[in-house]
Amino acid sequence: MASGGGGYRHSSSGAPTRLSTKIDRQNSGAYATPKASAKSRIPASPSTGSGFRRSSSGPLPAQPRASADAGVPGRVRVAVRLRPRNSEELVADADFGDCVELQPELKRLKLRKNNWESETYEFDEVLTESASQKRVYEVVAKPVVESVMEGYNGTVMAYGQTGTGKTFTLGRLGDEDTAARGIMVRAMEDILADVSLETDTVSVSYMQLYMETIQDLLDPANDNIAIVEDPKTGDVSLPAATLVDIRDQKSFVELLRVGEQHRFAANTKLNTESSRSHAILMVHVRKTVKGRQDMDMSYRGENGHHTSSHSLRPPVIRKSKLVVVDLAGSERIDKSGSEGHTLEEAKSINLSLSALGKCINALAENSPHVPVRDSKLTRLLRDSFGGTARTSLVVTIGPSPRHRGETASTIMFGQRAMKVENMVKLKEEFDYKSLCRRLDIELDKLIAENERQRKYFEDEVERLRVEAQKRIAEAEKSCKIALENEKTTLQQDYRDSIKKLEEKWKVNQQAIEKSRAEQESRKATKSDELLEVRNMLENEKNLRQSSQDEIIDLRNQVQHWKKLEESRGSEIVKLRKLLDTEASQKEKLEEEIAVLKSQLLQLSLEAEETRRSLDRGASGKIFPGLDSLMSQANRNSQLRDQTNGPKPPIAKLFEQVGLQKILSLLESEDADVRVHAVKVVANLAAEEANQEKIVEAGGLTSLLTLLRSSEDETIRRVAAGAIANLAMNETNQEMIMAQGGVSLLSMTASDAEDPQTLRMVAGAIANLCGNDKLQARLRGEGGIKALLGMVKCGHPDVLAQVARGIANFAKCESRAATQGNTMGRSLLIEDGSLPWIVKNANNEAAPIRRHIELALCHLAQHEVNAKEIINEGALWELVRISRDCSREDIRMLAYRTLTSSPTLQAEMRRLRIEC
Ligand code: ADP
Ligand code: MG
Repeated sequence: MASGGGGYRHSSSGAPTRLSTKIDRQNSGAYATPKASAKSRIPASPSTGSGFRRSSSGPLPAQPRASADAGVPGRVRVAVRLRPRNSEELVADADFGDCVELQPELKRLKLRKNNWESETYEFDEVLTESASQKRVYEVVAKPVVESVMEGYNGTVMAYGQTGTGKTFTLGRLGDEDTAARGIMVRAMEDILADVSLETDTVSVSYMQLYMETIQDLLDPANDNIAIVEDPKTGDVSLPAATLVDIRDQKSFVELLRVGEQHRFAANTKLNTESSRSHAILMVHVRKTVKGRQDMDMSYRGENGHHTSSHSLRPPVIRKSKLVVVDLAGSERIDKSGSEGHTLEEAKSINLSLSALGKCINALAENSPHVPVRDSKLTRLLRDSFGGTARTSLVVTIGPSPRHRGETASTIMFGQRAMKVENMVKLKEEFDYKSLCRRLDIELDKLIAENERQRKYFEDEVERLRVEAQKRIAEAEKSCKIALENEKTTLQQDYRDSIKKLEEKWKVNQQAIEKSRAEQESRKATKSDELLEVRNMLENEKNLRQSSQDEIIDLRNQVQHWKKLEESRGSEIVKLRKLLDTEASQKEKLEEEIAVLKSQLLQLSLEAEETRRSLDRGASGKIFPGLDSLMSQANRNSQLRDQTNGPKPPIAKLFEQVGLQKILSLLESEDADVRVHAVKVVANLAAEEANQEKIVEAGGLTSLLTLLRSSEDETIRRVAAGAIANLAMNETNQEMIMAQGGVSLLSMTASDAEDPQTLRMVAGAIANLCGNDKLQARLRGEGGIKALLGMVKCGHPDVLAQVARGIANFAKCESRAATQGNTMGRSLLIEDGSLPWIVKNANNEAAPIRRHIELALCHLAQHEVNAKEIINEGALWELVRISRDCSREDIRMLAYRTLTSSPTLQAEMRRLRIEC
């Protein structure tokens, strides 16, 4: 502990080295890892420099790593071990008790001053003479070893008088008895058990320090090893010392043995006493920390962000060092030089140990100066006392009272050492270089691997390709051969089977031949019967054939006949057609003849009419209507009376033509023929002598039919005229009524455009009105209304016929009344004729006036009509007639009528009219 610029401080308390008063209970049992809580009696004081601290307060933090830079307080732990009496002492001190008394359970040691006085000291551990090597290791060294494994430097040191068991405690190899193994061996066992030989290294150097010279116990030739100090950190090292890698326990023990031998040899050679040299074992542990959780913290940049990926973290290396020091005996050297040393030698021998004592004193007393540099030992142990290492000291004492003084001084050394406070610090660093190296290597490896793999793959691909080609070629070849073989075998098989089939066929053929022959023979017996049947069949066939031929012949004949018949049929049809045409021609010719005859007849009629009119005087007309009709029809001639005069030409013609023929012409398709025919019939009908014949021949019916069906008004007009002529006969009147003549006439009137047509129709109805028997029926079929309907045409000829009809009807009614038939009011009045009668009673046309005057008289003769006659103003007309009528008979009739009717008389009186 050479004193540098300083760092050691003496305790301000001036620390007495004994007395139980100094016992600090809190420190008891604090022989633990830095993790265990410990409280120093020495108050903390600020450090002035290179990290040498000695005290701190408060418990150690749970994780020393967290304050690794600053370090954590760690007091030097001190145990005391008492050696059992050896054989010599057992004899020599037999009568004396031990100078010390141990109270291990209290961790106290009593040192007898004399028989009645003793002093008590407390240690971190008190190990009795019976304490086993194992227990000593666990109590003294194991916590330090564990610290070393965690990355702290550690020191285990034995201090004591020669022969008290320092070497026994530290250096026993335990060859003969494993239980005797000392701390060095056990420590290495634990270290080796903890490290990984792949990533970690354990190396050892072993040397002794004698008279300030460091000798290499592993290389005797290396007998003066220099201490090198790092000017920056102050760390000391012995680069010249042999450093042996330890990979197993056995080699380590061997190394210790060799070292021990070398120590003995060196001491013999130099004539030194081994008890005066310090043996120093340095175990360097280099440990790589893997997968540490708090590594991230180390890699945070200033801004707190991660600056590198996990894989680029450099490994953390902990380089720690365990130093085991077997100190030289602590007993004083006889300064007299009794042992053969010069005074200087004696000084030199003791230098390191006494310097250690001084440093510890200084540290214990917190002295400002710690003379670290005074000796090589203190320089080497600079880190062990007041430094960053975890330090454990075992002080060994003997029981003999004869060495009481030395024992006491040893105890005091231990007590002072207990006050030394270290600042344990983690010895770890980031191994960037190794990381870099590792990464380089890794990269090289990867590149090489990549190359290798690529090459391998290429080779493999090529190999596979070649192999595949080879295999394909082989497969093709074998396939070809196989196919060839297959072909030949199949061909062979084919040939064989053909052969077999041929043979089979032959056999079958033979069998068939055989069976056929058998059948032939069987057939022969039946052939006669067959022949017979066949002949019969043949006959049948022939018969059938002949009959079929016959049928065909017959059919042909039938066909022929049919054809003949057809040709004859067609001839007949032709002839019939010829006949028809002949007949139609004949008919036409006949028709023409009839027409010509009728024309001739008409011409004759006309001629006769002309002649007659020339010859005629004035004669009364029975029916003047037809005159005008005929005159209309002929346009040229004026027909007058036809009742008189000879009629041979007509009768002659009539007979020549025949009535039937003329009537049939009424139905001719030719319109002109029909017109001529109807005119002829009308002319004939004008002759009373013809009327009966005409009606008998169906002429009346034909004329009525014409009214119904003809569209030609001329025909209808002439026909109506003819009917009017026929209607003069009573029998014919009934026939006309029976055949619906009244309604046909009414229909003709309503369709008529020509007044002459109306005159014919009115004439016909007027004739019918003169029949007493038909009155009711005529009126019932609308005859009166038809008459009254025709007056609107206003033609005097028409009006005259209407007036005649009304007069006829009124005459019949009055006749019926006079004959005593009970009658109601006049049908004429019922049908509303009275107003027209009154209106036309004084008509200018004489024929009209006369008929109406007559009609009025007839109506008035019947009392039931009187009231109506008065109402309609007919009374005045009757009075006028009775006064002014030019015809006397009518004037008289009117007068009689007025005077005979009580009602009219009463009315005339009322009106003061006189006849
Ligand atoms: P030192 O190294 O302190 O000089 P040693 O370790 O050489 O002492 O011990 C001296 C003798 O005492 C040795 O023979 C050793 O076997 C014996 N001895 C030391 N400590 C014990 C002990 N705890 N139990 C039994 N024998 C011991
Ligand atoms: Mg020894």
